[in-house]
Amino acid sequence: MSMLSVGRPTRPEAADAQGQASLTGGRGLLQDEALIFELGGWDKTGVDLPEPEADASDLAGLTRDDVPLPGLSEPEAVRHYVRLSQKNHAIDLALYPLGSCTMKHNPRLNERMARLAGFSDIHPLQPQSTVQGALALMDGLAHWLKTLTGMPAVALPPKAGAHGELCGLLAIHAAHDAKGDSARRRVLVPTSAHGTNPATAAFVGYSVTEIAQTDDGRVDLADMAAKLGPDVAAIMVTNPNTCGLFERDIIEIARLAHEAGAYFYCDGANFNAIVGKVRPGDLGVDAMHINLHKTFSTPHGGGGPGAGPVVLSEALAPFAPAPWVVSGEGGFKLVEEPAGEAAQAFGRMSAFHGQMGMFVRAYAYMLSHGADGLRQVAEDAVLNANYVKARLQDLITPAFPEGPCMHEALFDDSWLEGTGVTTLDFAKAMIDEGFHPMTMYFPLVVHGAMLVEPTETESKAELDRFCEALRALATAAKAGEVDRFKGAPYLAPLRRLDETLAARKPKLAWRPEPTGVAPTPLAAE
Ligand SMILES: *Cc1c(COP(=O)(O)O)cnc(C)c1O
Repeated sequence: MSMLSVGRPTRPEAADAQGQASLTGGRGLLQDEALIFELGGWDKTGVDLPEPEADASDLAGLTRDDVPLPGLSEPEAVRHYVRLSQKNHAIDLALYPLGSCTMKHNPRLNERMARLAGFSDIHPLQPQSTVQGALALMDGLAHWLKTLTGMPAVALPPKAGAHGELCGLLAIHAAHDAKGDSARRRVLVPTSAHGTNPATAAFVGYSVTEIAQTDDGRVDLADMAAKLGPDVAAIMVTNPNTCGLFERDIIEIARLAHEAGAYFYCDGANFNAIVGKVRPGDLGVDAMHINLHKTFSTPHGGGGPGAGPVVLSEALAPFAPAPWVVSGEGGFKLVEEPAGEAAQAFGRMSAFHGQMGMFVRAYAYMLSHGADGLRQVAEDAVLNANYVKARLQDLITPAFPEGPCMHEALFDDSWLEGTGVTTLDFAKAMIDEGFHPMTMYFPLVVHGAMLVEPTETESKAELDRFCEALRALATAAKAGEVDRFKGAPYLAPLRRLDETLAARKPKLAWRPEPTGVAPTPLAAE
Protein backbone atom coordinates (compact mmCIF):
# COMPACT_ATOMS: atom_id res chain seq x y z
CA MET A 1 0.00 0.00 0.00
CA SER A 2 1.43 3.41 -0.87
CA MET A 3 1.64 6.01 1.86
CA LEU A 4 1.63 9.79 1.74
CA SER A 5 4.36 11.80 3.46
CA VAL A 6 1.82 12.45 6.24
CA GLY A 7 1.70 8.71 6.90
CA ARG A 8 -1.80 8.21 5.55
CA PRO A 9 -2.49 5.52 2.99
CA THR A 10 -3.28 7.04 -0.41
CA ARG A 11 -6.08 4.55 -0.95
CA PRO A 12 -8.37 2.70 1.36
CA GLU A 13 -7.27 -0.85 1.92
CA ALA A 14 -9.41 -2.06 -0.88
CA ALA A 15 -10.05 -5.69 0.00
CA ASP A 16 -13.58 -6.15 1.18
CA ALA A 17 -15.10 -9.11 2.93
CA GLN A 18 -15.17 -11.08 -0.34
CA GLY A 19 -11.57 -10.21 -1.14
CA GLN A 20 -12.53 -8.02 -4.08
CA ALA A 21 -10.89 -4.71 -4.73
CA SER A 22 -11.70 -1.87 -7.09
CA LEU A 23 -8.94 -0.35 -9.24
CA THR A 24 -9.33 3.20 -7.99
CA GLY A 25 -9.94 2.80 -4.29
CA GLY A 26 -13.56 3.76 -4.89
CA ARG A 27 -16.21 1.54 -3.42
CA GLY A 28 -19.33 1.60 -5.54
CA LEU A 29 -20.93 5.00 -5.10
CA LEU A 30 -18.30 6.02 -2.55
CA GLN A 31 -15.32 7.51 -4.36
CA ASP A 32 -11.86 7.73 -2.92
CA GLU A 33 -11.01 11.29 -1.93
CA ALA A 34 -7.71 13.00 -1.23
CA LEU A 35 -7.04 15.77 1.28
CA ILE A 36 -8.01 19.19 0.01
CA PHE A 37 -4.32 20.16 -0.16
CA GLU A 38 -3.60 17.16 -2.34
CA LEU A 39 -6.20 18.07 -4.93
CA GLY A 40 -4.08 19.77 -7.57
CA GLY A 41 -4.28 23.47 -8.25
CA TRP A 42 -2.81 25.64 -5.56
CA ASP A 43 -2.71 28.27 -8.30
CA LYS A 44 -6.37 27.80 -9.15
CA THR A 45 -9.34 29.82 -7.93
CA GLY A 46 -13.06 29.32 -8.27
CA VAL A 47 -13.69 33.06 -8.56
CA ASP A 48 -12.68 35.35 -11.44
CA LEU A 49 -11.75 38.62 -9.77
CA PRO A 50 -10.16 41.67 -11.43
CA GLU A 51 -6.57 42.41 -10.48
CA PRO A 52 -6.62 44.54 -7.33
CA GLU A 53 -5.63 48.15 -7.94
CA ALA A 54 -3.89 48.81 -4.68
CA ASP A 55 -0.93 46.59 -3.87
CA ALA A 56 -0.93 47.55 -0.19
CA SER A 57 -1.20 44.46 1.99
CA ASP A 58 -1.33 43.93 5.73
CA LEU A 59 0.36 40.56 5.34
CA ALA A 60 3.96 41.74 5.47
CA GLY A 61 4.56 40.87 1.85
CA LEU A 62 3.26 37.32 2.24
CA THR A 63 1.37 36.35 -0.90
CA ARG A 64 -0.82 33.41 -1.76
CA ASP A 65 2.10 31.86 -3.61
CA ASP A 66 3.99 31.61 -0.32
CA VAL A 67 1.14 29.88 1.46
CA PRO A 68 -0.02 26.92 -0.61
CA LEU A 69 -3.73 27.31 -0.01
CA PRO A 70 -5.78 24.85 -1.99
CA GLY A 71 -7.68 26.21 -4.96
CA LEU A 72 -10.80 24.45 -6.20
CA SER A 73 -13.59 25.28 -8.58
CA GLU A 74 -17.05 25.38 -7.02
CA PRO A 75 -18.14 21.90 -8.18
CA GLU A 76 -14.82 20.47 -7.02
CA ALA A 77 -15.28 22.08 -3.60
CA VAL A 78 -18.87 20.82 -3.31
CA ARG A 79 -17.89 17.28 -4.31
CA HIS A 80 -14.92 17.30 -1.96
CA TYR A 81 -17.10 17.97 1.07
CA VAL A 82 -19.93 15.70 -0.02
CA ARG A 83 -17.45 12.84 -0.50
CA LEU A 84 -15.87 13.51 2.87
CA SER A 85 -19.32 13.52 4.48
CA GLN A 86 -19.81 9.96 3.20
CA LYS A 87 -16.65 8.66 4.85
CA ASN A 88 -18.04 8.65 8.34
CA HIS A 89 -21.16 7.54 10.10
CA ALA A 90 -23.83 10.19 10.67
CA ILE A 91 -27.07 10.41 12.62
CA ASP A 92 -28.81 11.21 9.30
CA LEU A 93 -27.65 7.84 7.95
CA ALA A 94 -28.63 5.28 10.57
CA LEU A 95 -29.15 4.58 14.23
CA TYR A 96 -26.15 5.81 16.25
CA PRO A 97 -26.32 3.86 19.51
CA LEU A 98 -23.47 5.55 21.38
CA GLY A 99 -24.50 5.11 25.03
CA SER A 100 -24.24 8.13 27.34
CA CYS A 101 -23.81 10.38 24.28
CA THR A 102 -27.52 10.46 23.31
CA MET A 103 -27.15 10.69 19.54
CA LYS A 104 -30.73 11.65 18.74
CA HIS A 105 -32.11 13.09 15.53
CA ASN A 106 -31.56 16.85 15.08
CA PRO A 107 -34.96 18.17 13.95
CA ARG A 108 -34.82 20.35 10.83
CA LEU A 109 -37.25 22.80 12.41
CA ASN A 110 -34.51 23.66 14.92
CA GLU A 111 -32.14 24.43 12.04
CA ARG A 112 -34.72 26.62 10.35
CA MET A 113 -35.24 28.68 13.51
CA ALA A 114 -31.50 29.03 14.18
CA ARG A 115 -31.06 30.53 10.72
CA LEU A 116 -33.59 33.32 11.25
CA ALA A 117 -31.70 36.57 10.69
CA GLY A 118 -32.72 37.94 14.10
CA PHE A 119 -30.73 35.12 15.70
CA SER A 120 -28.00 34.31 13.22
CA ASP A 121 -26.99 37.77 11.97
CA ILE A 122 -26.57 39.57 15.27
CA HIS A 123 -23.37 40.36 17.17
CA PRO A 124 -22.75 40.12 20.91
CA LEU A 125 -21.46 43.69 21.01
CA GLN A 126 -24.65 45.12 19.49
CA PRO A 127 -26.64 47.50 21.75
CA GLN A 128 -28.99 45.38 23.86
CA SER A 129 -31.99 47.43 22.71
CA THR A 130 -31.45 45.98 19.20
CA VAL A 131 -31.36 42.30 20.28
CA GLN A 132 -34.46 42.15 22.46
CA GLY A 133 -35.79 39.10 20.63
CA ALA A 134 -32.62 37.12 21.22
CA LEU A 135 -32.57 38.10 24.90
CA ALA A 136 -36.25 37.13 25.20
CA LEU A 137 -35.39 33.71 23.76
CA MET A 138 -32.57 33.25 26.29
CA ASP A 139 -35.00 34.25 29.04
CA GLY A 140 -37.57 31.75 27.73
CA LEU A 141 -34.98 28.97 27.56
CA ALA A 142 -33.84 29.77 31.11
CA HIS A 143 -37.46 29.64 32.26
CA TRP A 144 -38.00 26.19 30.72
CA LEU A 145 -34.75 24.80 32.13
CA LYS A 146 -35.59 26.09 35.61
CA THR A 147 -39.16 24.76 35.40
CA LEU A 148 -38.15 21.33 34.10
CA THR A 149 -35.50 20.92 36.80
CA GLY A 150 -37.30 22.66 39.66
CA MET A 151 -34.24 24.85 40.27
CA PRO A 152 -34.32 28.63 40.89
CA ALA A 153 -31.37 29.74 38.70
CA VAL A 154 -29.52 28.75 35.56
CA ALA A 155 -26.18 29.76 34.04
CA LEU A 156 -26.45 29.58 30.25
CA PRO A 157 -22.82 30.36 29.20
CA PRO A 158 -21.03 26.96 29.60
CA LYS A 159 -20.15 25.49 26.21
CA ALA A 160 -20.50 21.75 26.93
CA GLY A 161 -21.29 19.27 29.68
CA ALA A 162 -17.69 19.24 30.90
CA HIS A 163 -17.62 23.05 30.89
CA GLY A 164 -20.86 22.98 32.88
CA GLU A 165 -19.24 20.71 35.46
CA LEU A 166 -16.47 23.27 35.78
CA CYS A 167 -19.07 26.02 36.20
CA GLY A 168 -20.89 24.04 38.92
CA LEU A 169 -17.73 23.23 40.88
CA LEU A 170 -16.51 26.84 40.64
CA ALA A 171 -19.86 27.97 42.10
CA ILE A 172 -19.49 25.37 44.87
CA HIS A 173 -15.93 26.54 45.53
CA ALA A 174 -17.11 30.17 45.72
CA ALA A 175 -19.96 29.22 48.08
CA HIS A 176 -17.60 27.45 50.50
CA ASP A 177 -15.19 30.40 50.33
CA ALA A 178 -18.02 32.84 51.08
CA LYS A 179 -18.81 30.86 54.24
CA GLY A 180 -15.15 30.92 55.27
CA ASP A 181 -15.14 27.17 54.75
CA SER A 182 -12.16 26.96 52.40
CA ALA A 183 -10.55 23.89 53.99
CA ARG A 184 -12.73 21.51 51.98
CA ARG A 185 -10.38 19.88 49.50
CA ARG A 186 -12.03 16.63 48.41
CA VAL A 187 -14.76 15.63 45.95
CA LEU A 188 -16.44 12.20 46.06
CA VAL A 189 -17.11 10.52 42.70
CA PRO A 190 -18.57 7.03 42.09
CA THR A 191 -16.47 4.45 40.21
CA SER A 192 -18.91 4.40 37.30
CA ALA A 193 -18.66 8.18 36.69
CA HIS A 194 -17.86 9.70 33.32
CA GLY A 195 -14.18 10.66 33.09
CA THR A 196 -15.02 14.35 32.97
CA ASN A 197 -16.23 14.25 36.63
CA PRO A 198 -12.88 13.45 38.29
CA ALA A 199 -11.07 15.51 35.64
CA THR A 200 -13.18 18.57 36.45
CA ALA A 201 -12.70 18.15 40.19
CA ALA A 202 -8.93 17.88 39.70
CA PHE A 203 -8.94 20.91 37.39
CA VAL A 204 -10.57 23.01 40.11
CA GLY A 205 -7.86 21.83 42.53
CA TYR A 206 -9.75 19.17 44.48
CA SER A 207 -8.53 15.69 45.16
CA VAL A 208 -10.89 12.90 44.14
CA THR A 209 -12.10 10.03 46.32
CA GLU A 210 -13.90 7.15 44.63
CA ILE A 211 -17.19 5.83 46.00
CA ALA A 212 -17.76 2.09 45.58
CA GLN A 213 -20.70 0.61 43.72
CA THR A 214 -23.21 -1.99 44.87
CA ASP A 215 -23.71 -5.29 43.04
CA ASP A 216 -26.81 -3.86 41.40
CA GLY A 217 -24.92 -0.91 39.88
CA ARG A 218 -25.78 1.91 42.28
CA VAL A 219 -23.85 4.17 44.68
CA ASP A 220 -22.83 2.23 47.80
CA LEU A 221 -24.42 4.39 50.52
CA ALA A 222 -22.38 2.94 53.37
CA ASP A 223 -19.13 3.55 51.51
CA MET A 224 -20.19 7.08 50.65
CA ALA A 225 -21.16 7.85 54.27
CA ALA A 226 -17.80 6.53 55.46
CA LYS A 227 -15.91 8.75 53.02
CA LEU A 228 -17.83 11.97 53.73
CA GLY A 229 -16.19 14.34 56.18
CA PRO A 230 -15.51 17.99 57.00
CA ASP A 231 -12.95 18.18 54.17
CA VAL A 232 -15.42 17.14 51.44
CA ALA A 233 -16.56 20.02 49.21
CA ALA A 234 -18.99 18.13 46.99
CA ILE A 235 -20.22 14.82 45.71
CA MET A 236 -20.68 14.33 41.96
CA VAL A 237 -23.33 11.74 41.13
CA THR A 238 -24.90 11.00 37.74
CA ASN A 239 -28.61 10.21 37.72
CA PRO A 240 -29.73 8.08 35.97
CA ASN A 241 -26.19 6.76 36.24
CA THR A 242 -23.87 5.57 33.48
CA CYS A 243 -25.06 1.97 33.97
CA GLY A 244 -28.46 3.21 32.74
CA LEU A 245 -29.97 2.80 36.23
CA PHE A 246 -31.86 5.22 38.44
CA GLU A 247 -30.09 5.91 41.75
CA ARG A 248 -32.97 4.88 43.95
CA ASP A 249 -31.27 6.21 47.13
CA ILE A 250 -30.83 9.64 45.57
CA ILE A 251 -32.71 11.51 48.34
CA GLU A 252 -30.59 9.82 50.99
CA ILE A 253 -27.43 10.60 48.97
CA ALA A 254 -28.39 14.29 48.98
CA ARG A 255 -29.25 14.25 52.69
CA LEU A 256 -25.94 12.64 53.66
CA ALA A 257 -23.96 15.12 51.53
CA HIS A 258 -25.75 18.14 53.00
CA GLU A 259 -25.44 16.82 56.54
CA ALA A 260 -21.67 16.71 56.00
CA GLY A 261 -21.69 20.31 54.74
CA ALA A 262 -20.97 19.28 51.13
CA TYR A 263 -22.88 20.29 47.99
CA PHE A 264 -24.54 17.82 45.61
CA TYR A 265 -23.38 18.17 42.01
CA CYS A 266 -25.55 16.05 39.75
CA ASP A 267 -24.16 15.13 36.34
CA GLY A 268 -27.26 15.77 34.22
CA ALA A 269 -26.00 14.22 30.97
CA ASN A 270 -28.75 11.60 31.29
CA PHE A 271 -31.55 14.09 31.97
CA ASN A 272 -33.16 12.88 28.72
CA ALA A 273 -34.31 9.78 30.62
CA ILE A 274 -36.29 11.73 33.23
CA VAL A 275 -37.16 15.09 31.64
CA GLY A 276 -40.77 15.97 32.37
CA LYS A 277 -41.00 13.13 34.91
CA VAL A 278 -38.54 14.03 37.69
CA ARG A 279 -37.38 17.47 38.83
CA PRO A 280 -33.78 17.20 40.10
CA GLY A 281 -34.40 20.17 42.41
CA ASP A 282 -36.89 17.99 44.33
CA LEU A 283 -34.12 15.43 44.90
CA GLY A 284 -31.81 17.85 46.73
CA VAL A 285 -29.48 18.66 43.83
CA ASP A 286 -27.44 21.88 44.17
CA ALA A 287 -26.00 22.11 40.66
CA MET A 288 -26.54 20.15 37.45
CA HIS A 289 -25.43 20.64 33.87
CA ILE A 290 -27.78 19.92 31.00
CA ASN A 291 -26.14 18.94 27.71
CA LEU A 292 -28.40 20.64 25.17
CA HIS A 293 -26.91 18.28 22.53
CA LYS A 294 -28.13 15.28 24.47
CA THR A 295 -31.49 16.04 26.04
CA PHE A 296 -32.57 18.86 23.74
CA SER A 297 -31.49 17.54 20.32
CA THR A 298 -28.93 20.17 19.25
CA PRO A 299 -26.17 18.82 16.96
CA HIS A 300 -23.09 17.36 18.66
CA GLY A 301 -20.92 18.94 16.00
CA GLY A 302 -17.36 17.95 15.26
CA GLY A 303 -16.16 19.34 18.56
CA GLY A 304 -17.92 22.49 17.45
CA PRO A 305 -20.19 24.83 19.34
CA GLY A 306 -22.02 23.13 22.18
CA ALA A 307 -23.94 24.31 25.20
CA GLY A 308 -24.13 22.93 28.73
CA PRO A 309 -26.26 25.26 30.88
CA VAL A 310 -26.04 24.67 34.65
CA VAL A 311 -29.05 24.91 36.95
CA LEU A 312 -28.28 26.05 40.49
CA SER A 313 -30.00 25.75 43.87
CA GLU A 314 -30.91 28.67 46.14
CA ALA A 315 -27.61 28.20 47.99
CA LEU A 316 -25.47 28.43 44.84
CA ALA A 317 -27.50 30.90 42.75
CA PRO A 318 -25.72 34.04 44.08
CA PHE A 319 -22.41 32.72 42.72
CA ALA A 320 -23.64 32.09 39.15
CA PRO A 321 -21.27 33.42 36.49
CA ALA A 322 -22.19 36.60 34.60
CA PRO A 323 -23.94 37.43 32.37
CA TRP A 324 -27.59 36.52 32.77
CA VAL A 325 -30.81 37.97 31.39
CA VAL A 326 -33.22 40.04 33.49
CA SER A 327 -36.38 41.81 32.38
CA GLY A 328 -37.98 45.01 33.58
CA GLU A 329 -39.59 48.26 32.43
CA GLY A 330 -37.07 48.83 29.66
CA GLY A 331 -37.29 45.28 28.30
CA PHE A 332 -34.60 42.62 28.61
CA LYS A 333 -31.01 43.22 29.58
CA LEU A 334 -27.89 41.26 30.44
CA VAL A 335 -26.46 41.62 33.95
CA GLU A 336 -22.77 41.91 33.16
CA GLU A 337 -21.02 43.78 35.99
CA PRO A 338 -20.01 42.13 39.28
CA ALA A 339 -22.08 44.54 41.36
CA GLY A 340 -25.55 44.64 42.93
CA GLU A 341 -27.30 41.30 42.50
CA ALA A 342 -24.19 39.95 40.72
CA ALA A 343 -21.75 41.05 43.46
CA GLN A 344 -20.92 37.44 44.34
CA ALA A 345 -20.74 36.08 40.77
CA PHE A 346 -17.59 33.95 40.58
CA GLY A 347 -16.61 35.45 37.23
CA ARG A 348 -17.35 34.38 33.67
CA MET A 349 -17.34 31.09 31.80
CA SER A 350 -17.01 32.63 28.34
CA ALA A 351 -16.38 35.94 26.62
CA PHE A 352 -20.06 36.58 25.98
CA HIS A 353 -23.35 34.95 26.90
CA GLY A 354 -22.93 31.45 25.41
CA GLN A 355 -23.93 29.65 22.19
CA MET A 356 -26.90 31.50 20.74
CA GLY A 357 -27.41 29.02 17.89
CA MET A 358 -27.73 26.14 20.35
CA PHE A 359 -30.10 28.13 22.57
CA VAL A 360 -32.42 28.65 19.60
CA ARG A 361 -32.35 24.99 18.58
CA ALA A 362 -32.99 23.73 22.13
CA TYR A 363 -35.84 26.20 22.63
CA ALA A 364 -37.39 25.21 19.29
CA TYR A 365 -37.25 21.58 20.45
CA MET A 366 -38.94 22.46 23.75
CA LEU A 367 -41.70 24.52 22.14
CA SER A 368 -42.36 21.98 19.39
CA HIS A 369 -42.78 19.19 21.98
CA GLY A 370 -44.52 21.12 24.72
CA ALA A 371 -44.46 19.96 28.33
CA ASP A 372 -46.40 16.77 27.57
CA GLY A 373 -44.20 16.00 24.57
CA LEU A 374 -41.02 16.31 26.62
CA ARG A 375 -42.41 13.85 29.14
CA GLN A 376 -43.05 11.48 26.26
CA VAL A 377 -39.44 11.96 25.09
CA ALA A 378 -38.26 10.45 28.38
CA GLU A 379 -40.86 7.69 28.29
CA ASP A 380 -40.03 6.68 24.72
CA ALA A 381 -36.26 6.82 25.34
CA VAL A 382 -36.69 4.39 28.25
CA LEU A 383 -39.14 2.20 26.33
CA ASN A 384 -36.77 1.93 23.34
CA ALA A 385 -33.79 0.99 25.52
CA ASN A 386 -35.83 -1.69 27.28
CA TYR A 387 -37.02 -3.01 23.92
CA VAL A 388 -33.40 -3.40 22.77
CA LYS A 389 -32.49 -5.09 26.05
CA ALA A 390 -35.43 -7.48 25.79
CA ARG A 391 -34.67 -8.35 22.16
CA LEU A 392 -30.99 -9.10 22.75
CA GLN A 393 -30.69 -10.51 26.24
CA ASP A 394 -31.00 -14.19 25.28
CA LEU A 395 -27.81 -13.82 23.17
CA ILE A 396 -25.93 -10.87 24.66
CA THR A 397 -25.65 -10.77 28.45
CA PRO A 398 -27.06 -7.70 30.21
CA ALA A 399 -24.73 -6.38 32.91
CA PHE A 400 -27.68 -5.92 35.28
CA PRO A 401 -30.35 -8.40 34.24
CA GLU A 402 -32.68 -7.64 37.16
CA GLY A 403 -35.47 -5.19 36.41
CA PRO A 404 -35.85 -2.63 33.66
CA CYS A 405 -33.16 -0.15 32.60
CA MET A 406 -33.60 3.56 32.01
CA HIS A 407 -32.61 5.15 28.65
CA GLU A 408 -29.69 2.84 27.84
CA ALA A 409 -29.10 -0.90 27.92
CA LEU A 410 -25.77 -2.06 29.32
CA PHE A 411 -24.28 -5.42 28.30
CA ASP A 412 -21.07 -7.09 29.40
CA ASP A 413 -18.76 -9.45 27.46
CA SER A 414 -19.33 -12.67 29.43
CA TRP A 415 -21.32 -14.05 26.46
CA LEU A 416 -18.19 -13.74 24.28
CA GLU A 417 -16.11 -15.96 26.55
CA GLY A 418 -14.34 -18.67 24.58
CA THR A 419 -15.31 -17.21 21.17
CA GLY A 420 -11.98 -15.42 20.59
CA VAL A 421 -13.98 -12.28 19.82
CA THR A 422 -13.66 -9.19 22.04
CA THR A 423 -15.96 -6.24 22.63
CA LEU A 424 -13.74 -4.19 20.31
CA ASP A 425 -13.95 -6.80 17.52
CA PHE A 426 -17.71 -7.01 17.85
CA ALA A 427 -18.11 -3.23 17.74
CA LYS A 428 -15.89 -2.96 14.65
CA ALA A 429 -17.98 -5.61 12.87
CA MET A 430 -21.06 -3.43 13.44
CA ILE A 431 -19.49 -0.84 11.11
CA ASP A 432 -19.58 -3.37 8.26
CA GLU A 433 -23.31 -3.80 8.92
CA GLY A 434 -23.86 -0.03 8.59
CA PHE A 435 -24.20 0.89 12.25
CA HIS A 436 -22.03 3.04 14.44
CA PRO A 437 -20.66 0.96 17.33
CA MET A 438 -22.17 1.35 20.76
CA THR A 439 -20.07 2.88 23.55
CA MET A 440 -17.38 0.33 24.42
CA TYR A 441 -15.52 -0.39 27.65
CA PHE A 442 -17.51 2.28 29.53
CA PRO A 443 -18.56 2.40 32.29
CA LEU A 444 -15.36 0.88 33.65
CA VAL A 445 -17.22 -1.07 36.34
CA VAL A 446 -18.54 -3.58 33.79
CA HIS A 447 -16.15 -5.99 32.06
CA GLY A 448 -16.00 -5.41 28.29
CA ALA A 449 -18.97 -3.04 28.59
CA MET A 450 -21.27 -2.38 25.61
CA LEU A 451 -23.57 0.55 26.32
CA VAL A 452 -26.45 0.91 23.85
CA GLU A 453 -28.59 4.07 23.80
CA PRO A 454 -31.15 4.07 20.99
CA THR A 455 -32.89 7.36 22.02
CA GLU A 456 -36.57 8.16 21.52
CA THR A 457 -36.15 9.22 17.90
CA GLU A 458 -35.90 5.66 16.52
CA SER A 459 -38.99 3.93 15.19
CA LYS A 460 -39.74 0.31 16.02
CA ALA A 461 -38.78 -0.64 12.47
CA GLU A 462 -35.31 0.92 12.87
CA LEU A 463 -34.88 -0.70 16.28
CA ASP A 464 -35.78 -4.06 14.74
CA ARG A 465 -33.25 -3.62 11.92
CA PHE A 466 -30.60 -2.79 14.50
CA CYS A 467 -31.50 -5.71 16.78
CA GLU A 468 -31.56 -8.14 13.83
CA ALA A 469 -28.05 -6.99 12.82
CA LEU A 470 -26.73 -7.46 16.35
CA ARG A 471 -28.41 -10.84 16.68
CA ALA A 472 -26.88 -12.00 13.39
CA LEU A 473 -23.42 -10.84 14.50
CA ALA A 474 -23.78 -12.44 17.94
CA THR A 475 -24.82 -15.71 16.33
CA ALA A 476 -21.79 -15.55 13.99
CA ALA A 477 -19.47 -14.92 16.94
CA LYS A 478 -20.86 -17.87 18.83
CA ALA A 479 -20.59 -20.05 15.70
CA GLY A 480 -16.83 -19.42 15.64
CA GLU A 481 -16.67 -17.05 12.65
CA VAL A 482 -13.71 -15.26 14.21
CA ASP A 483 -12.32 -13.88 10.93
CA ARG A 484 -15.43 -11.83 10.36
CA PHE A 485 -14.56 -9.94 13.53
CA LYS A 486 -10.77 -9.87 13.81
CA GLY A 487 -10.24 -7.88 10.62
CA ALA A 488 -13.36 -5.76 10.85
CA PRO A 489 -14.27 -3.27 9.60
CA TYR A 490 -13.65 -4.58 6.07
CA LEU A 491 -15.96 -2.16 4.30
CA ALA A 492 -15.05 1.18 5.90
CA PRO A 493 -12.86 3.64 3.96
CA LEU A 494 -10.15 3.18 6.57
CA ARG A 495 -9.95 0.24 8.94
CA ARG A 496 -8.42 -0.07 12.41
CA LEU A 497 -6.55 3.12 13.14
CA ASP A 498 -4.09 3.73 15.95
CA GLU A 499 -6.40 6.13 17.74
CA THR A 500 -4.08 6.58 20.72
CA LEU A 501 -1.15 7.57 18.53
CA ALA A 502 -3.41 9.89 16.54
CA ALA A 503 -4.53 11.60 19.75
CA ARG A 504 -1.10 11.73 21.37
CA LYS A 505 0.94 12.71 18.31
CA PRO A 506 -1.42 14.40 15.91
CA LYS A 507 0.11 15.53 12.63
CA LEU A 508 -1.28 18.99 12.27
CA ALA A 509 0.88 20.29 9.42
CA TRP A 510 0.41 19.12 5.86
CA ARG A 511 3.45 18.52 3.66
CA PRO A 512 3.19 17.78 -0.03
CA GLU A 513 4.62 14.59 -1.46
CA PRO A 514 8.07 15.29 -2.91
CA THR A 515 6.74 15.17 -6.48
CA GLY A 516 3.87 17.58 -5.77
CA VAL A 517 3.41 20.73 -7.83
CA ALA A 518 2.85 23.04 -4.87
CA PRO A 519 5.59 25.48 -3.85
CA THR A 520 7.75 24.85 -0.78
CA PRO A 521 5.43 24.70 2.19
CA LEU A 522 5.83 26.56 5.48
CA ALA A 523 8.54 25.03 7.62
CA ALA A 524 6.73 24.98 10.95
CA GLU A 525 5.42 21.61 12.16
C1 LIG B 1 -21.51 13.38 27.72
C2 LIG B 1 -21.25 13.27 29.17
C3 LIG B 1 -20.48 14.23 29.85
C4 LIG B 1 -19.71 15.33 29.16
O1 LIG B 1 -20.48 16.15 28.34
P1 LIG B 1 -19.87 16.94 27.09
O2 LIG B 1 -20.99 17.77 26.62
O3 LIG B 1 -19.43 15.90 26.12
O4 LIG B 1 -18.71 17.74 27.60
C5 LIG B 1 -20.37 14.13 31.22
N1 LIG B 1 -20.95 13.11 31.90
C6 LIG B 1 -21.68 12.16 31.28
C7 LIG B 1 -22.33 11.07 32.09
C8 LIG B 1 -21.85 12.20 29.90
O5 LIG B 1 -22.56 11.25 29.27
